[in-house]
Amino acid sequence: MSRTRRIAIARIAQESNALSPVVSTLADFRRTHFLEGDALLDAIQPGGTEAKGFLDDAELSGFAQAAAAHQLNVELVPLFSAWAVPGGPLAAEDHAWFRDELKRGLRAAGPLDGVFLTVHGSMNVVGTPEPEADYFADVREVVGDDVPLAVTMDLHANLSTTKVDPVTVLCAYRTNPHRDHAATGRRAGKILLDTIAATVRPTTAWRSLPMLVGGGFTLDFLPPTLAIFRAMKRWEKHPKVLSCSMFMSHLWLDQGEIGWATHVITDDDPALAAEVAEDLADRCWAVRKSLPPEFPGPREAIAQVRKMTWRRKLGVVAMCDASDVVGAGAPGDATGLLRAILDEGRGLTWFFPMRDPAAVAALESTPIGGAVDLNVGGVLDPARQRPVAVSGTLLNFESTESFGKVATLDLGDVKMVVTEGANLAMKPDFYTDRGLRMRDADVCVVKSFFPFRIYFARYARKSLYVRTEGTTNFDVWRSHDYARPTWPRDDPTSWRPADRARRGVGG
Ligand SMILES: [Zn+2]
Repeated sequence: MSRTRRIAIARIAQESNALSPVVSTLADFRRTHFLEGDALLDAIQPGGTEAKGFLDDAELSGFAQAAAAHQLNVELVPLFSAWAVPGGPLAAEDHAWFRDELKRGLRAAGPLDGVFLTVHGSMNVVGTPEPEADYFADVREVVGDDVPLAVTMDLHANLSTTKVDPVTVLCAYRTNPHRDHAATGRRAGKILLDTIAATVRPTTAWRSLPMLVGGGFTLDFLPPTLAIFRAMKRWEKHPKVLSCSMFMSHLWLDQGEIGWATHVITDDDPALAAEVAEDLADRCWAVRKSLPPEFPGPREAIAQVRKMTWRRKLGVVAMCDASDVVGAGAPGDATGLLRAILDEGRGLTWFFPMRDPAAVAALESTPIGGAVDLNVGGVLDPARQRPVAVSGTLLNFESTESFGKVATLDLGDVKMVVTEGANLAMKPDFYTDRGLRMRDADVCVVKSFFPFRIYFARYARKSLYVRTEGTTNFDVWRSHDYARPTWPRDDPTSWRPADRARRGVGG
């Protein structure tokens, strides 16, 4: 048996929305997912639950599986794993805390043969546009340049030289909506372990495209992006191609140079890595003109629901408030759709999520069944939202692990779940855990772009997206300040000049 190889593992992951005024804190991570030491190790072993309420097996479990299957004798050295529901940029002092904790953990770990880190890749910190680059630099500062660093990212990451250069092995999800967290960890983990075993020598190339949106719905199983995912799998059949990743970037970032990107790892063949990264970049560029769909406004969406008589009888309509998607970091207190429902949604039963810590605090002393008469919403993001006056009765009030304190209101046609914490209304149990029954609803409003479709598959006979006004509008490219020229605000004929400038290469 060979000597034991020691590999430190950690996660710092949040998708942040730079447009949201609601600053994220360490408490948001602790509320969603925070594990360290042996508790982390137990959670990623077979039978463990890595991210309670979300996934039994995510990236770190995938890495543990790769380690167990590998010929090397591997010891996992658990540092910590922190994962928060998407939100506004992280507070600067909490980013500093993560950096200190990461360096402290790495130093305390003793000699290491590798580091495995899971991040999102589109995290924002107040005053720091690329926090993940800081974490990678911190790893390098402690372990030096010779210890391989493997990193997994979301495919909505935004790449840059500061994020790519320090990393030995970089792998992204290849499903959207994402369901290959563990597979991504296994892939990155196997390449890391093969690198340590010296059976491969990773060489990488990446390309950055001046392209903010495109690919239509950007799902892995629908054209036009389906063809790109298939091309990656075809390339990986080449014996020298170890991994292909493509990145569609998160739109709501406070970074000048954002856009789609491709990244390729080959075994000791930099020219092949460049060839594949270019081929994939060409394929991404070719789908840029498939813009995301235009969504109807609330009134039009409500009119559509009225016509769906059978779909409402046989199940529910799931309606995504696409401008206030908590799953993409929005505050969750938008009132545009609520106002339209109160005006025009009468006679239909609506389940509606609202984040409003002040309203929850005000309801704490109300008896169950008591009358409520208050304003909701529009407090966290007052620049974009206005509060709405509602009245009804309090159905229940509880403290929860995921959402903080939660008040459920009966407002007649609208049953409203008001939360203190981020209202990631993505699964039916957001409502059913409050005692609301799916069969009683005509429409369930959700705050998730895609994952809700998986969770609601049993109940929803139709999914509708509605555009209101908020921090997750798809057409943010019209107004936000990005490096130019970029598609679709501009129409560059080639992605290559911007790519060379972004990667800092001549020619
Ligand atoms: Zn993503």
